[in-house]
Amino acid sequence: MGYLIRGARLADPRTGQTDACDILIEGDIFAQIALAGSIDVAGHEVLEADGLIALPGLIDVHVHLREPGFSHKETIATGTQAAAAGGFTQVCCMPNTSPVTDTPEVVRFITHEAKRHGFATVHPIAAMTYGLKGEALTDFGALKKAGAVAFSDDGRGLQSAGMMKRALQLSREQGMPIAVHAEDETLSAGGHLHDGAVAHSLSIPGIPTEAETTMIARDILLAQATGAHVHMCHVSPETAVAAIREGKRRGVRVTAEVTPHHLLLTEEEALTKGAAAKVNPPLRAATDRRACIEGFLDGTLDIVATDHAPHTPEEKARSIPEAPFGFTGIEISLPLMYTAFVQSGLLSIAELAARMSWRPAQLFGLPGGFVAAGQSADLTLLDPSEVRKVEPDSFRSLGKTTPFAGRKLTGWPVATFYQGRLVYDRVYTQGEV
Ligand SMILES: [Zn+2]
Repeated sequence: MGYLIRGARLADPRTGQTDACDILIEGDIFAQIALAGSIDVAGHEVLEADGLIALPGLIDVHVHLREPGFSHKETIATGTQAAAAGGFTQVCCMPNTSPVTDTPEVVRFITHEAKRHGFATVHPIAAMTYGLKGEALTDFGALKKAGAVAFSDDGRGLQSAGMMKRALQLSREQGMPIAVHAEDETLSAGGHLHDGAVAHSLSIPGIPTEAETTMIARDILLAQATGAHVHMCHVSPETAVAAIREGKRRGVRVTAEVTPHHLLLTEEEALTKGAAAKVNPPLRAATDRRACIEGFLDGTLDIVATDHAPHTPEEKARSIPEAPFGFTGIEISLPLMYTAFVQSGLLSIAELAARMSWRPAQLFGLPGGFVAAGQSADLTLLDPSEVRKVEPDSFRSLGKTTPFAGRKLTGWPVATFYQGRLVYDRVYTQGEV
């Protein structure tokens, strides 16, 4: 028993090809992939997928699942259901939970809880320093053994260059990346929006681009000195894109992610959306946005990550200075990227699959990222003809705030298979699984 998915165009991030295929799923793995019309077996549920695009299950290396500690904002159950609805089968969650993910016990709690719910694989990213305080490094070896895939103090920059250098040396010994939230607090403190025209007009203190880029430049130098892999989270300024491009040119092991919101929005959003557009790092100037697009297209910014950061509607209803940073994003990342980059002809669908699945798997040492016989059957079906508005009230996530609310997007996920099970489905059973 299993599924025979017939006639979907399968985007292969490894070859760049997109061919109409039949995909046979048996148990929790892909049993056979062949050109459309060539698999003929009995006893499987046949799903006609003519007109749909099949992608390897998407992978988001930067999400906040909020559990343990903040389950009023999100839980591992709701966050992974949201992931499935967005076409994601693996996510890496950041350690700014309560308690902080700085011990093997918390790492194991998260992976166990995710397995219990069964919507997506959750790979914890462990804290670099205890309590995210920037004072003492955690036990990298023990955290890796418990299942952590990277280290990060995301939400805060590690202010001490000396401690960062030591962390890079230790992460290199473990063969794991450090994911950098780049923020020099002596430059960013008190800021709420990009330090630019909009913040000035609203008389709200700004966060300058150099608060981010000085730390990115510092950590590229430290990665060069240590030979470690440094991964830059949610890159936003033009100057940071240039620094990463230069670091790569010099052969430093620096990789980077960019969010859909930094690719598609600017500081102007705060004028009409208020705190719904408040995020850290902030939405920046139009020149920064253009540089992010260029950097994404030329590969300087390797992958897409959402920085899915749910808060309660009440928290995000506050004024800009009083509201927390961040908004929800995992359920609309694929249609945002499909509309802006594939429909417009800037990227092929196979290249987008590379940036949202295959490359993230490579950078973080995760399984999957491509569809092949014998692999875990993680698959996303996308309908390239579906046009729909973003309706936050329908999100599985407990976070209902996004500056993209109401935006009309093309190319939505319609079914997600995770380890051979249909965990999200809007076409075949006409209901929720
Ligand atoms: Zn961050």
